[in-house]
Amino acid sequence: WWDHVTPALKDPISAVTQAFLADPCPYKINLGVGAYRDDEGKPVVLQCVREAEAKIEASNFLESTSTALSSKLVEESAKLVYGEDSDVIKEKRFAGIPALSGTGACRLFAEFQKRFYPESRIYLPDPTWSNHRNIWREVHVPDRTFRYYHPDSKSLNFMALMDDVKNAPDGSFFLLHPCAHNPTGVDPTDEQWREISSLFKVKNHFPFFDVAYQGFASGDVEGDAKAIRIFLEDGHSIGCAQSFSKNMGLYGHRVGVLSVLCNDKIQAMAINSQLQQISRTMYGSPPIHGISIVSKILSDPDIKAIWLKEVKVYLVSSFFFRFCTLFDFHYYKDDWTDSLSIISKCYKVMATRIHRMRVILREALERLESPLNWQHITNQVGMFCFSGLNRAEVYLLEKEFHIYMTPDGRISMAGVTTKNVDYLANAIHEVTAC
Ligand code: PMP
Repeated sequence: WWDHVTPALKDPISAVTQAFLADPCPYKINLGVGAYRDDEGKPVVLQCVREAEAKIEASNFLESTSTALSSKLVEESAKLVYGEDSDVIKEKRFAGIPALSGTGACRLFAEFQKRFYPESRIYLPDPTWSNHRNIWREVHVPDRTFRYYHPDSKSLNFMALMDDVKNAPDGSFFLLHPCAHNPTGVDPTDEQWREISSLFKVKNHFPFFDVAYQGFASGDVEGDAKAIRIFLEDGHSIGCAQSFSKNMGLYGHRVGVLSVLCNDKIQAMAINSQLQQISRTMYGSPPIHGISIVSKILSDPDIKAIWLKEVKVYLVSSFFFRFCTLFDFHYYKDDWTDSLSIISKCYKVMATRIHRMRVILREALERLESPLNWQHITNQVGMFCFSGLNRAEVYLLEKEFHIYMTPDGRISMAGVTTKNVDYLANAIHEVTAC
């Protein structure tokens, strides 16, 4: 029966993990996975998650997800992206369903797009998260790319992006990362988003936002929705895939939401029923545990405040970090970390730690007198550093130094710790200096 089955192409991110696990070296480093890890390399449970779990009756987890719980999750999630006071929320002009995290939300949208625009394509940024291409390919929607990143300047290739948006056929579907672009960590400015939105309007393109890192770019959940709000103000029809894997540290629970803006409540009911029909054939109903936690966090004002604070710590500290970078303070030393703990007790959590690692890595490379410019390590935002290392250098890092990352040179900063950062900097210096 199955003689004609050959192995599937390896997913570049899973392949990194597999190679890492197979390596017996005691000082190997995995910089492939985008899940948050603390300075000991361990996953972190946020306080808001602990509080939410404590308030949920454990026996509820044995039930299947009710319509009421799903609707609550969708409504609270929609507020995060479209804004609590927006007309869309007040008038309930959106359709949405719980999805199996960001991946599942993208897949549901791809299925929905194929069902109602069977001849359409999807435009993906170059580069983008590697699974985007696979997801749309699975539903037989051809993909095209639009230029996004300039490898020389290590920044946004805005002119080229605008050109590609302009030259795409009218009414095309575009996938956009509204904040903390994966893998480059480079986002358009608000002004650039306004220009992109205006051009989308002229071209009647459909913006589909993949919101996998809300809160990770600015530390502010609201601030990170700015791009979406700009499109909203301009009256676009919008789709959003939301993930709570990173910003709530709930990777294993697979909690996400797909929402689509609608003209009115009647259209919302029609789209909802179609999305539900698609999801029924894929996974029946979504698992209840994670949905209960996220709904509780978002709907309980006290717990939500804890969550926002846990994410916001990054905002305060990142200003502090930038200020120090400007004046060349060596604030990563212990005395500075002590003073930083006054700013927040949660100093070591999530994005703050990630930013701190960016600074330490850059400084270590500069101390080694690397002839290359490493400014982009601290300029980029979010979980990843698009290092600029080429395939040959990535290969050498793996073979000679047991350091694993995706072939495009993307470093997951969550894998960098105070214990391995010097070893990593030395290795990068060795492979780039030769
Ligand atoms: N979108 C982007 C841009 C991502 O980087 C990721 C995860 N790396 C996802 C979606 C999917 O994440 P998840 O399914 O874990 O929510």
